[in-house]
Amino acid sequence: MRADGTWWRLAAACRYIDPDLFFPIPTSGRALDQQVTRAKAVCGACPVTRDCLAFALRTHQMHGVWGGKTADERYLMLRMDLAVKTSG
Ligand code: SF4
Repeated sequence: MRADGTWWRLAAACRYIDPDLFFPIPTSGRALDQQVTRAKAVCGACPVTRDCLAFALRTHQMHGVWGGKTADERYLMLRMDLAVKTSG
């Protein structure tokens, strides 16, 4: 097991896929949607999605698709988690 907590990368479905797929250059529009959809399809068949997403949230990854979630989706998850923790 890796000391840095990234052992799950060895089982990642994206291990041999071009990383650029998960880091779209377009910031909006159909090209972005299509690339995100393709990346999410890989994540959808990945056995370590939860570990990947947890890592991205824990390390505040600001870009790319991790654990089947875009940066915006992860940002919302963190905001919702913070809201729950700070509510009454
Ligand atoms: S969830 Fe997606 S980005 Fe994360 S390791 Fe699996 S395929 Fe790669």
